[in-house]
Amino acid sequence: KTVILNLAKLNYDHKIDLSPISALTTVTAYDSSNPEEIIERLQGQDIAITKELPVGRDLIEQFPPSVKLICEAGTGFNNIDLAAAREKGITVCNVPGYSTEGVAHLAITFILNHSSSLSRQQIMLSQKNYINFTTHLTVPHFEVNGKTLGVIGGGAIGREVMKVAVALGMNVLVYDPMPRDWGNPRIQSASLEDLLRQSDFVTLHCPLMPETRHLINKERLSLMKPTAYLVNTSRGPLVKETDLIEALQQGKIAGAALDVQEVEPLSPDSPLFTLDNLVLTPHIGWQRLESRQRLFQLMAGNIEAFLKG
Ligand code: NAD
Repeated sequence: KTVILNLAKLNYDHKIDLSPISALTTVTAYDSSNPEEIIERLQGQDIAITKELPVGRDLIEQFPPSVKLICEAGTGFNNIDLAAAREKGITVCNVPGYSTEGVAHLAITFILNHSSSLSRQQIMLSQKNYINFTTHLTVPHFEVNGKTLGVIGGGAIGREVMKVAVALGMNVLVYDPMPRDWGNPRIQSASLEDLLRQSDFVTLHCPLMPETRHLINKERLSLMKPTAYLVNTSRGPLVKETDLIEALQQGKIAGAALDVQEVEPLSPDSPLFTLDNLVLTPHIGWQRLESRQRLFQLMAGNIEAFLKG
C-alpha cells in the first residue's frame, strides 16, 4: 500500500498519469499533509511518497512500523533525515535524472536572458521607457560566444549545461570535488576560486549538504567580476541571500537569477523582490510536464525494485 502525501505539488494541473505506480500498489493520494496528518495517514501503509516535505527525525520516529520505504519524488533529498530513517529500518530512495534537461535548459535560459537583456527590455518597455530611445542601451547586452561559464557541480545537470554552453561557443570551467575528463577541450577543471575569478557566468549544480550550505557568500562573491552573473537552479541555501542582496545592491556583480531561494515559497515582502538586477522563478526547474511524467515512471521503477527485494 502506498500513500502520496502531497500530490498537489506534483500534479497541480491533473495532467500526470499515475498508473505506473497504481499498477504496482494500491495508491491513496492527498493533495497536502501537515505533520499530524502525515502520521495518521501513514497507518497501515508500506510506502510513503513525498515531494520536498520536511521529514525530520521527530516525524520519522513517530512513523508506524508498517512503513518500509520513503520515495522522495525528486533528485535532492535534503528534506529527509536519512540517519533517522536508517535507524528505523526505513529505506529512502530519490529519483535522479528525471528533469536533467529541464533544469539545465532553465539555467541556460537565465544566461541568455541576461546576455540578451530580455527581461530588462520587457520591463523598460512596459514602463514606456522606449520613449527615451537610449534607456534600453543602459543594461548589459552582449554575445555569449567566447565568454566563460563557471559550472559548480559537474553531475548530470552540470554536464547538460556544459554541452549546450559549448554549442553556444562558450568556454567552460568546472569545479567538482570529483574532477573527470569532461570530454571537450573547451571544458576545463578549475579550483572554486579560479572559477569565480575568471567566469562571466557562474551556475550552481551541486547538491545541498552541510559543506555546501552558503557556498556562495560575501567572500566568494567578492572574487567574482563586477560584470559576472550568478545562476542558482540547484538549492536556495547554497547562496547566502543576505550577502547576495548586498552584492547586487552595491553592483559588486552584474546580476543573478534564482530558481530556488533560501526559504520557499518566498514571502511577499522578501527583499529579493526589490532588486532590478535579479530574476526570480518559484522553483520551476523540475516542473516541465514531460519531467513530471518521467518522475512517476522512474519512481515506479524504484518501487518495483524495492518490492522485488
Ligand atoms: P548529480 O548528483 O548528478 O550531480 C551533482 C554533482 O555535484 C556531482 O558531480 C558531485 O560530485 C558534485 N558535488 C558534490 N559536492 C560538491 C561541492 N562541494 N562542490 C561542487 N560540486 C560538488 O545531481 P544533478 O542531477 O546534476 O542535480 C544537481 C542538483 O540540482 C540536485 O542536488 C538538486 O538539488 C538540484 N535540482 C534542482 C531542481 C529544480 O527544480 N530547480 C531539479 C532537480 C535537481
